[in-house]
Amino acid sequence: MPLVIDPQSIFIIGMLLMLANGGILGVVHREILPQLQSSALVWRRGTLLLAGACIFFASINKIPVRLGLLSADALLLAGTTCYWYALRQFFHRRPHWRIHLPALLGIAGVGVSIFLLPSYKWRQLAITLALLAIFAGSAITLWPPAQDRGRSRRVLLGMFVVATLFVLLRLLALLYADLPQNGELFAPPQPVNALTPLIIVLLPSIGTTAFLLMCAERLKRRLERAASTDYLTSLPNRRTLAEQGKRGFSTARASGRGYAVAVIDIDYFKRINDAHGHEIGDEALKHVAGLLRRHCRGDELPTRQGGEEFVVLLDNIDAQNALLAGERLRSCVEAHPYRQGGIELPITVSIGIALRDDGDDHFDRLLSRADAALYQAKAGGRNRVMLADTPRHPD
Ligand code: GH3
Ligand code: MG
Ligand code: MG
Repeated sequence: MPLVIDPQSIFIIGMLLMLANGGILGVVHREILPQLQSSALVWRRGTLLLAGACIFFASINKIPVRLGLLSADALLLAGTTCYWYALRQFFHRRPHWRIHLPALLGIAGVGVSIFLLPSYKWRQLAITLALLAIFAGSAITLWPPAQDRGRSRRVLLGMFVVATLFVLLRLLALLYADLPQNGELFAPPQPVNALTPLIIVLLPSIGTTAFLLMCAERLKRRLERAASTDYLTSLPNRRTLAEQGKRGFSTARASGRGYAVAVIDIDYFKRINDAHGHEIGDEALKHVAGLLRRHCRGDELPTRQGGEEFVVLLDNIDAQNALLAGERLRSCVEAHPYRQGGIELPITVSIGIALRDDGDDHFDRLLSRADAALYQAKAGGRNRVMLADTPRHPD
């Protein structure tokens, strides 16, 4: 005997799954990044509303049928709208009031076609069109930018695309099927409708897992970024400098391309701390970091080495342009004193630059040559740029 599960049983199993999913999300939502918690709670609300819809669908024969149908359809549309809303929150898109429109119009249409002009076809059309807008809107929200490699986002997108296509199919079936137009709330079972309970049940169960994985992926990315970023200035930190420097150096060496590093040290920085306190010192460091970030160009990566010392990696460059880049950075710091609440602190930097040379067998060797050039710049009077083994002055 073939195993056939009737829609009622599917709805009951689905409802139990959704309640379990909603419960899990309720328990773990505090472990999610604080910025994502409200989105997770809206997703959970969606799952619980869909569980409610399943209860009504499962017990439609045991309750007043019109009220049952309206409640089930309204909960279905409200739950799926919550998913769309949660996704917009997740991706920092402002959840616009217009996203409630498909559900509101759908519920109004369902209400009319149940109570005022009873029609199976029009009720199905109202709910199908509303679901089409909600699923397509969710899929568009999930559409990843080219640089996004997140797998869970793609899984969830795949689900909403399948759901959109299914609803589209349902719409076509409705338009072309020979259905009672008026007076009937039910019609003989349609083949495409046999799949509807399955879609309604699968979306929250698989979707909630994918949503939780998206939260975990976002957390992982945050941690990776925190590990590679300097906490004070938000520039890439020493670890990133070592990684990127070694990588850039090896690639440049293999291809014979010019590669340089510029070590930048703030002059007499200790005096700022001593005269104005450590906090103003921190602000001055952020100010210089911001200037470096703004004045570095495409192939130039500014990093914070530590303390009041920065390193800029200069890829694809020759000696003359490396000196010009150093001079550009030196003069921009000199031209922009740190100003805050009536204080104006002139700041200057000394810069040592080393250009990759066939004698350099390692990135660290290049860095120590740039350090030696910096030492010369300091010894030569500060506020100047020195190319390793080739002293130059700004003026
Ligand atoms: P020079 O021109 O020779 O480089 O003189 P300098 O005063 O800049 O160098 P020195 O090495 O004597 O002093 C560096 C100071 O930078 C000492 C240290 O307290 C301060 N410093 C290092 N890291 C931080 C930081 O994160 N915040 C603040 N406010 N100060 C820092
Ligand atoms: Mg210094
Ligand atoms: Mg220093």
